[in-house]
Amino acid sequence: MTALMKADPVIARVISGEERRETEKIILIASENYVSQAVMDAQGSILSNKYAEGYPAKRFYEGCEYVDQAESLAIERAKALFGAEHCNVQPLSGTVANLAVYLTMLKPGDRILGMNLSHGGHLSHGAPASFTGRIFESHHYGVSRETYTIDYDEAETMAKRIRPKMIVVGASSYSRIIDFERFRRIADEVGALLMTDIAHIAGLVAAGAHPSPVPHADFVTSTTHKTLRGPRGAFILCKKEYADLIDHTVFPGLQGGPFMNIIAAKAVCFKEASTQQFREYGHQIVKNAKALCQALKAKGYEIVTGSTDNHLFLVNLTNREITGRDAARALDRAGITLNKNVIPFDTQSPYVTSGIRIGTPIVTTRGMKEKEMDLIADWIDRVLSDIENETLQKQVADEVREFCRGYPTRPVVLHED
Ligand code: PLP
Repeated sequence: MTALMKADPVIARVISGEERRETEKIILIASENYVSQAVMDAQGSILSNKYAEGYPAKRFYEGCEYVDQAESLAIERAKALFGAEHCNVQPLSGTVANLAVYLTMLKPGDRILGMNLSHGGHLSHGAPASFTGRIFESHHYGVSRETYTIDYDEAETMAKRIRPKMIVVGASSYSRIIDFERFRRIADEVGALLMTDIAHIAGLVAAGAHPSPVPHADFVTSTTHKTLRGPRGAFILCKKEYADLIDHTVFPGLQGGPFMNIIAAKAVCFKEASTQQFREYGHQIVKNAKALCQALKAKGYEIVTGSTDNHLFLVNLTNREITGRDAARALDRAGITLNKNVIPFDTQSPYVTSGIRIGTPIVTTRGMKEKEMDLIADWIDRVLSDIENETLQKQVADEVREFCRGYPTRPVVLHED
């Protein structure tokens, strides 16, 4: 950062501050991760200088011989990693990737059926606050009141009644395995297309720690920056028959010049995610989530759905008489960063919430295992059991800072070739 320190010391200090925060705190935000130096090198490279509207070998600009190689590699690696027929690596974000699929296959006013935002779905799955909920007639399935797991029967009944053109499957705060096969059957029964959004679980799918939707879905969208541990961005997988249509929607339909530095970083990410080391990482994320969940449960915390099968879980704090907002603030002061989260059927507003969401991608990247999850559960419990006690929060923050020294923030990925 020497050049940056000279040119803009204020921004250099912002970055150093963030680096200290990421080093000294335990980050349990389920949608974040710490990328490798290799991913950062590609992101911060001169490929950011290049305009490359179009696709490899079909560009609107000259001088694309090197960026073409980067994009072709990213595409081929993603296809091999997920076993897909086609991949578009240009979407700038998960929301844009989802929009690209909708705009390729649907017309304004068409019916879509996605998971309820307040039950764990995502804004871009037709929530009223998102344009996806305004452009399309969107309907939502959710979780059952008894088990808090997806109510597949309800989804099927709704699909039969609504006859959606597309069923959208995927979530931002759902802790159990999603039965993609079942959704394929529901989609087939009503003649709907099936889009699955694996933004959160892509790394687990790549590692074989969650079943893949690729054999079942017409379209699979994902971000690259969550469990997959790549740069901020997204990609779309689909069958060959939709390839040209999807590509045409992404460019020129929705975006202009692709971010070639980010695409190169996606290629690095896909390479890293195809290693044995990453497969072990994906399984360890789940083991850590289960361990942390069990440790909190043993201390009397109520876990939504009772447990977890993936990288995250929700804690319902209603029986503790504290809100998600107060819990998240107190924990952050104590060096443990996570987010407040609505729980299904929450009576609190989304700004206050009755729950917190806990995820293990970052602590696993830092090399922590089950025994460290017990320590983290102890700290969480100490803080939440005496939530007004700022002296205790400072003491825990000191302990956390000391503890974090032993765990690197950059994953070192061993390449196999
Ligand atoms: N889809 C799901 C399931 C997500 O959880 C998210 C982000 O949290 C997105 C899409 C959107 O990704 P982005 O923030 O890159 O637009």
